[in-house]
Amino acid sequence: MQDRIVSSQTNSQEYEHDIQLRPKNFDEYVGQKRVVENIELMVQSALSRKAAMDHALLSGPPGLGKTSLAMIIANYLGSQLHVVSGPAIERKGDLAAVLTNLAPRDVLFIDEIHRMHISVEEMLYSAMEDFRLDILIGEGAAARTMQISLVPFTLIGATTRAGLLSNPLRDRFQSHLHFDFYSAEELSTIIQNNAKKLNLSLDTEANMTIARRSRGTPRIANRILRRVRDFSVVKKVKNIDSSIVDNALHLMDIDSLGLDSMDRKILKVMNDFYAGGPVGIDALSATLGEDKQTIEDVYEPYLLKNGLIIRTSRGRLLSDTAKQHIASDAMGK
Ligand code: ADP
Repeated sequence: MQDRIVSSQTNSQEYEHDIQLRPKNFDEYVGQKRVVENIELMVQSALSRKAAMDHALLSGPPGLGKTSLAMIIANYLGSQLHVVSGPAIERKGDLAAVLTNLAPRDVLFIDEIHRMHISVEEMLYSAMEDFRLDILIGEGAAARTMQISLVPFTLIGATTRAGLLSNPLRDRFQSHLHFDFYSAEELSTIIQNNAKKLNLSLDTEANMTIARRSRGTPRIANRILRRVRDFSVVKKVKNIDSSIVDNALHLMDIDSLGLDSMDRKILKVMNDFYAGGPVGIDALSATLGEDKQTIEDVYEPYLLKNGLIIRTSRGRLLSDTAKQHIASDAMGK
């Protein structure tokens, strides 16, 4: 995947800043009200019962606050958070090592859980349900199952594609919580809080401009905010107004709808090569030279949410709004 300015995937340079800007507690965690209400109830119940919190599945596009919420949960529970990436656990032994290292009531966060290897995933079933690992030793008639007891723990699974989870795994999560894109108002609150953390003086209009162009995603708002900061430092501007934000967004190639060059490329390919569709995801992926799953997980959700692309049984269609946007100057950037 090419490195895009509005990509909602994190990268290593951002990791350090992410730590600085991550909300530390439920008060700092803006929006996602229904998710937070459910989680607060589960946390309080676990604390009163002096037991591990129920397993929770967090789904939604990247950059919307799943990892941040897991950190806050572990903090409130007074437990250690262990973070692993689903596809990185290649062998059963890797997962066994992670699980046997947990202390009672610890939180295990598995990111991209839908991309876990099936044999590893199957080990999770008894671990989640009975806090037990079933390990097969030997082969054929001599094969035996060895059981290892685990301490009670909480699994928080994060996925961009809840639909790709197998039923046995999905059923073992007592709670399924879906994250939606943030409203411009919610993003504006996050930007205000983070501008303070970065020692930036941002006027209201500048704040709203960033909020409206962040694709409903806090990670992207943070990324734009940092570029605006760089811009203001280099140009030696103390008070940041919307003209500075506009300049920074222009340099970053983000247009009036918050779309970057890759988003516009998708819309343009649909328009120029497929006469606005309908076009199947395989054909689109081949023409764009971009992985199908990346298109579906990273690029498409926001285009769908904003009615720029419409999904039909015959494929993806370009909406009238998208056609107007392509024809407008904004696409020329
Ligand atoms: P995900 O795990 O869903 O990819 P993250 O939890 O890593 O997303 O969020 C990315 C960044 O966005 C965080 O470092 C944080 O600064 C910001 N962020 C996400 N959600 C919120 C929120 N609800 N309130 C404030 N900041 C948030």
